[in-house]
Amino acid sequence: MTFTPSCLLVTGGAGFIGSNFIRWVLGHEGGVHVINLDALTYAGNLESLQDVDAEHGPSGDARYSFIHGDVRDLDLMERVLRGEAIPKAPAPDCVVHMAAESHVDRSIMGPGVFVDTNIRGTMTLLEAARAMLKTRARPFRFVQISTDEVYGSLAADDPAFTETTPLAPNSPYSASKASADLLVRSYVETFDFPAIITRCSNNYGPYQFPEKLIPLMITRALADQPLPVYGDGRNVRDWLHVEDHASAIWSVVTGGEIGAVYNIGGSAELPNITVVRCVLQCLGKPESLIKYVQDRAGHDRRYAMNTDRICRELGWQPGHRFDVGIAKTVQWYLDHRQWWERVLNEAYRATNALYLKHS
Ligand code: NAD
Repeated sequence: MTFTPSCLLVTGGAGFIGSNFIRWVLGHEGGVHVINLDALTYAGNLESLQDVDAEHGPSGDARYSFIHGDVRDLDLMERVLRGEAIPKAPAPDCVVHMAAESHVDRSIMGPGVFVDTNIRGTMTLLEAARAMLKTRARPFRFVQISTDEVYGSLAADDPAFTETTPLAPNSPYSASKASADLLVRSYVETFDFPAIITRCSNNYGPYQFPEKLIPLMITRALADQPLPVYGDGRNVRDWLHVEDHASAIWSVVTGGEIGAVYNIGGSAELPNITVVRCVLQCLGKPESLIKYVQDRAGHDRRYAMNTDRICRELGWQPGHRFDVGIAKTVQWYLDHRQWWERVLNEAYRATNALYLKHS
């Protein structure tokens, strides 16, 4: 049965995936309203949504609203879900929960905020939605955006993760995401709560904060600075273009089965060093910029996603080949210098740039 939401509440919508997802939904789905609730941590940036706000905000077609708020604020979350926070918008009938602390290296330096935001934040949101549904039973969906990292690490010849692979997270970040997933699962089982979980591989594309691998390498190569690569550079990740992720989430929102888990991947498994070389090639920069640095503690060797379920049941396919997606992404960073230079100057340096320590 198809579910057609009239109003999505996107948490963490000022982050990388959230801002791309909101742009995608408002651009593709004419009748939908989107409420973006974001605490605007170092990773949240409303400049990533300036075009969306101009076209769909209060001075445009009024399908987009922003709330500066924290998912750990139960009272606020209850008001938002009852439809009391934005007077002219409908009450949300679907939550796409993306708000999180998302950077593994930061979780190694300080796990506390990961537990608080990713676990307690998810729990608060679940409680607010459950309370709302108790008094106003209506069609509703909660989609938890999670990660392949909850499954742990694969050896080179292991089969890819499926939705039934046991959870075995290895970093404080992935442990906090796995914990949140288990809370969501428990609400489905215990309270008949209408939730679905998606787990995706590494996203890349426009508006990604330059502490993550691809934008870090692009911005440093453009400045002819050394490119820090962990260990031997042979850790393998699957790469998913963020617009393909957006279309996958929409497929799950509209067609996913309550209680199910869906893996999402880009069919692009690559060693990190290959990704870095691709970036250098796109920019015409020399490989002598590559500098191997001490490996990350507990660094997972390989992630790979079996995406048969979402492809078969929901008819979704990734639209970007990696070579095309990476060239498009590099071009975006070349065309949007102002966006990332401001991020680097104003937020990144002020909040303890991690990789810069290696240079
Ligand atoms: P991001 O760090 O770019 O954005 C996170 C957003 O959440 C920011 O805008 C931040 O301000 C907001 N936020 C943080 N704490 C909050 C709070 N307490 N209340 C409200 N907002 C808060 O992250 P991203 O890369 O866009 O990832 C989005 C989601 O997707 C996360 O849940 C992440 O775990 C998951 N994910 C990301 C990737 C990836 O490759 N980027 C891969 C797998 C899963």
